[in-house]
Amino acid sequence: MSDDLTALLPRLADIVGQRNVLTGADVAARQVDWLSGAACRAGAIVRPGCTEEVSRVMQLCFEARQPIVTHGGLTGLVHGAEADPGELALSLERLTTIEDVDPLGSTLTAEAGVPLERIQQAAEDVGLYFPLDLGARGSCTLGGNIATNAGGNRVIRYGMMRQQVLGLEAVLADGTVIGSLSPMLKNNAGYDLKQLFIGSEGTLGIVTRAVVRLQPAPSDTRTALVACPDFDALSGLLAHLGRTLGGGLAAFEAMWRNHYRLIAHDSGRHRPPLDADTSHYALVESIGVDPEAHEASFSAALESAFEAGLIEDAVISQSAVQRDALWEIRDDIESLVTALAPLQAFDVSLPISAMQGYVESVESSLTQRWPDARIAVFGHLGDGNLHISVGVGDDSAQARQAVEACLYHPLAELKGSISAEHGIGLEKRDWLHISRTPEEIALMTSLKHTLDPRGLLNRNKVVPWRNPG
Ligand code: FAD
Repeated sequence: MSDDLTALLPRLADIVGQRNVLTGADVAARQVDWLSGAACRAGAIVRPGCTEEVSRVMQLCFEARQPIVTHGGLTGLVHGAEADPGELALSLERLTTIEDVDPLGSTLTAEAGVPLERIQQAAEDVGLYFPLDLGARGSCTLGGNIATNAGGNRVIRYGMMRQQVLGLEAVLADGTVIGSLSPMLKNNAGYDLKQLFIGSEGTLGIVTRAVVRLQPAPSDTRTALVACPDFDALSGLLAHLGRTLGGGLAAFEAMWRNHYRLIAHDSGRHRPPLDADTSHYALVESIGVDPEAHEASFSAALESAFEAGLIEDAVISQSAVQRDALWEIRDDIESLVTALAPLQAFDVSLPISAMQGYVESVESSLTQRWPDARIAVFGHLGDGNLHISVGVGDDSAQARQAVEACLYHPLAELKGSISAEHGIGLEKRDWLHISRTPEEIALMTSLKHTLDPRGLLNRNKVVPWRNPG
């Protein structure tokens, strides 16, 4: 820990209480990287209990020029929560109150440290639905979901986190509280300031509270796993279901054979619902209101897909248990981590029409350099989002960079993105130019300097910090 931070600790304790300033083994006990399990290296962790305490901590840090790194549920995948020993981690784990659920206005107001699963449950308790959903739902937080503009399994129907947020409260680097907590869907009163904090990964402010939209609860859900003879059939099926299900399509999770085989068959952790010899698979889900009519329209949509040659085989879940078993295959990241160790995980987006060519060219560049390279591909096809898991048997910095080059360079020409939903953090910062123009990066840097002139918040994440002097 730096001397400056050591000197600050008693003053931090005056604000949040001694037991909410952690040092030494209590800091190292926290993992900041879900994939590698790397320990937290911050000099200390401070745990404010309310917005006012976050603000007072930031006033103190601003005065002392103390850099901080915000911690939510620590499930991020781009090293955004990593900190150096000279940095102070600010954890929102004590901000866990759901303050209001308004069934009439269909809104929920909560503090930033509330886990996503609790938000989903609170909505369900009043007969409504919070549609953001992802595998880390038990640990990731509302604030982290906002800071990363999280995506997940329902984007095709409801959009990303940005589309769920009506208002938020954020604390700036100097401790100023920006209360932008309007619950209104329509609010064109000047600049939409909340957007600055959504997806900016804690580099422009610390999100402390938010108002989110709730949706009518889907009263009937139909789920199927289907096998498609090739990529054209898979993408044709997406269009077909979009048309025939009349807006009910809520998930279309595509899996290439290499991914499905590895998880459903080779891992030994699942009972394979379909054989693993087909080219592509999709986990499709539709939501509706009237169970009988919905069951009929879902079956009819799949039948017509069979007739059109888009599907070769299918299993339709008949119970919640069967449905969960299908989703467990899709959500089983642990099997990937084990099978491809040391795993390199990528999250990219690109036009659907270019996807199959992209996947083939990436596979070919990887195997040219590492003949035993293994790759597994799945993704939210309707969102143009692929998650590509790569194992080349080497996790040195040099190998990582070479693998990144194989995946990222082709995206520039395709106008794809090096980050579809996980953000930039530290991991992708030096590749930002692939997806953003020099003018865009200059504007991002200028926004950073305006809102955080001393570069205290998640310094060097997303864009490099250069002290203007
Ligand atoms: P953290 O990991 O704690 O932080 C992430 C970043 O946000 C850091 O830069 C941090 O400094 C900043 N931050 C956190 N809280 C705040 C705050 N209150 N104010 C300002 N900045 C803050 N992501 C998806 O988008 N879609 C998926 O489908 C998906 N699936 C996942 C599955 C698994 C198994 C795992 C482990 C992760 C998955 N993720 C997914 C990634 C991750 O869950 C999301 O990025 C999530 O939104 C991070 O939330 P968190 O609370 O854990 O944030």
